[in-house]
Amino acid sequence: MSPIAFRPSRHSTRPVRVSFEFFPPKTAEMEANLWSAIERLAPLGPSFVSVTYGAGGSTRERTHNTVARIVRETALKPAAHLTCVAATRDEVDDVVRSYWDAGVRHVVALRGDPVGGLGTRYEPHPGGYEQTCDLVAAIRRIGDFEVSVSAYPERHPETASLDADLDALQAKVDAGATRAITQFFFDNDLYLRFLDRVRARGIDIPIVPGILPVQNFKQARSFAERAGATIPDWLAQRFEGLEGDVETRKLIAAAVAAEQVLDLVDRGVGELHFYTMNRADLVYAICHLLGLRGQLADEPARAAA
Ligand code: FAD
Repeated sequence: MSPIAFRPSRHSTRPVRVSFEFFPPKTAEMEANLWSAIERLAPLGPSFVSVTYGAGGSTRERTHNTVARIVRETALKPAAHLTCVAATRDEVDDVVRSYWDAGVRHVVALRGDPVGGLGTRYEPHPGGYEQTCDLVAAIRRIGDFEVSVSAYPERHPETASLDADLDALQAKVDAGATRAITQFFFDNDLYLRFLDRVRARGIDIPIVPGILPVQNFKQARSFAERAGATIPDWLAQRFEGLEGDVETRKLIAAAVAAEQVLDLVDRGVGELHFYTMNRADLVYAICHLLGLRGQLADEPARAAA
């Protein structure tokens, strides 16, 4: 299962570690797609694969079932996303315990979006965890979990200032978070400037860049609007006029993502988290560029030997 990583870019000689994010499927067809994506990406030896938790806790069962199936049927290390939304502290604690019992040792702890939707005021559930740092502390009390949290290079849309965002990140680290994964971004300078500010605060956990390969530009733009992430003009221009041309869009998407990740690696980044959207091809190609080789890629060579 361990990948063969070699010189990932023209300049860097360090191996790169990757992780993959999936969402829980709603239908049997989506489940089949998800599992074919997991099977394709698993041989690349990700550090972990994470499964999101739907807004308002709407996917509680599906997230749990997907994570439990990963534990049962693969050698991958799953991370279960969990939010504070729409549940009491006892209910959330039960979910965490059930993950522990299922053999899960990594939770991605989040506040979650307001129940009324983005743009509405966030109200903690009565009897629920108020803030993400409270959830992180609870998870760490329940078991010796690895706990990842979010970070926002361009600020969270609700936050008053970048400093308030950094206070929230600090509180999550103080409560026991071991890694942060960033919201996606397309301008690497934004991430690197954010990293400088995080380190200047004395926060020393890994701040892993979240990479969104642009499988669908319209969808990426809509995600970005909701997430408070900037779509640079140059990115929009690259996809301009390709609305009806799927094949060229795929090539452009691969080129854009390759440029972004190779630049990050050249600038010292050693760990990347991919928002896969449950699709493997583009992410597989980018990981190949990064030097990751899995068992499947080795097989023809072995067969020929
Ligand atoms: P926090 O890090 O706790 O807070 C973010 C910022 O908002 C901080 O600056 C904080 O000060 C400010 N803030 C928090 N509460 C308030 C408040 N009441 N008033 C004013 N400011 C406030 N969402 C899901 O539903 N399911 C998922 O699986 C999921 N996975 C994610 C994975 C990653 C890597 C990322 C980056 C985001 C994910 N999200 C997910 C989205 C996330 O739930 C939302 O962005 C949510 O709005 C904030 O949650 P958080 O844990 O990031 O917030």
